[in-house]
Amino acid sequence: MARIAVGGFQHETNTFAPAKATFRDFAEGGGWPALQRGLGLVDAVSGANLPVAGALSTLKELGHQPVPLVWAAATPSAHVTEDAYERIVGMLIEDLAAQGPFDAVYLDLHGAMVAEHLDDGEGELLRRVRAVVGPKVPVVASLDLHSNTTAAMVEHSDALVAYRHYPHTDMAETGGRAAMLLHRFLEGAGPRGKAFRQASFLIPITWQCTLVEPARSIYAALDEAGAESASFTPGFPAADIADCGPAVLAYAETQEAADRAAEALLRLVEAAEPRFAGRIWSPDEAVRHAMAASPGKPVVIADTQDNPGGGGTSDTTGMLAALVRNGAEGAALGVMADPEAALAAHAAGEGAEIELVLGGRSGIPGDAPFRGRFVVERLGDGSFTGTGPMWGGARCRLGPMAALRLGGVRVVVASKKLQAADQAIFRHVGVEPAAQRLLVLKSSVHFRADFEPIAAEVLVAAAPGALPADPASLPFRKLRPGLRLKPLAAG
Ligand SMILES: [Zn+2]
Repeated sequence: MARIAVGGFQHETNTFAPAKATFRDFAEGGGWPALQRGLGLVDAVSGANLPVAGALSTLKELGHQPVPLVWAAATPSAHVTEDAYERIVGMLIEDLAAQGPFDAVYLDLHGAMVAEHLDDGEGELLRRVRAVVGPKVPVVASLDLHSNTTAAMVEHSDALVAYRHYPHTDMAETGGRAAMLLHRFLEGAGPRGKAFRQASFLIPITWQCTLVEPARSIYAALDEAGAESASFTPGFPAADIADCGPAVLAYAETQEAADRAAEALLRLVEAAEPRFAGRIWSPDEAVRHAMAASPGKPVVIADTQDNPGGGGTSDTTGMLAALVRNGAEGAALGVMADPEAALAAHAAGEGAEIELVLGGRSGIPGDAPFRGRFVVERLGDGSFTGTGPMWGGARCRLGPMAALRLGGVRVVVASKKLQAADQAIFRHVGVEPAAQRLLVLKSSVHFRADFEPIAAEVLVAAAPGALPADPASLPFRKLRPGLRLKPLAAG
């Protein structure tokens, strides 16, 4: 039995988004569990599809003693403040030193954290962890598929293991795989070679989906690459850092085998470049197309550029305006994050009619608040449990919520941001997703896990938002030389 330190610090940083992640954002958690220090972590994450939950249960099954230290996560946004980074990493390092020595360390990381004072949040965190535990104690971290993986992260850990599904239905499973690999290191049988290669182009997140090609085939090839553990992280493109973009990781018996596996996987990624593409609709085109479809199942429109899972503010109104302008009927949109509107709805009560200036308060170019007279159809306290394949069992706390109706359009308003990736968000305020004719979801890909089974068709639309569907439109300054801003087109 080994004593294993368990911690986590997750953030996906869109360096172009308007608002930063403060200590309070991590302390409260929002759609994630609140910051945990010590044993409370076990209850806070048990049963949830989170890497740390999977790691904790696998470590116990293997007969080890996991020791929870500090775990925190916040909704994607602009930079993590220096204050938040130093306080949270400070707690983790303090507890690691005070409660040690440990036989091994497992960390639940995202791998795209940019702090105000650090471009590589995880590389620096792993460096500090290594400095405490020394070179001989195995350190293994799990990563999000959207990790912007760096050489420092690879250098300061024994292994990194990333999700293989987008939508991320395998977060807990990935934590379990990382724990298994950690166990191999403890047995003295862990891979001794490690290799890391970065690809030469950015991939828009919409086309990273692993349910479709070319990502599906690349992921299917990971276990055939001749490595004990292989990962492909397509990256998070809205990050102005040198290490932005896709990377492959391979861990194998020898350095030569790891290099060979990483090279083979990199060739697969590079060969797939022209196939990371698809149609992006304008808001009006998408709404008209959906309205012309025969009713029965909803047509789902992804409001991809305001995806809060990628740093979107979740309050842009471009799609709402298009729904109203085109006279949409049987339409529902979520999640509109507007705490003032939610409070106004609660003050007015169910059945009341209220004048509102809804959303559009984040200063996104081309966006504006939406003025209208809404019926308050249903109120909610924002506490509910996810039911879909990705967030089933996850406890969400979005603060006061409301379903507001304007003609044939319903808007699900919440006080906090959460990507519209689970039908429970709508049902919490009495809106049955499957009964709609048209659903607008502030999400890029994660919605597909829970909503594709009820959808007649999925369209990806681009209304103004903080997460451009085309990364080439972002004003980058720090990318490494030669990196292409989007996949080169076929032909
Ligand atoms: Zn992700």
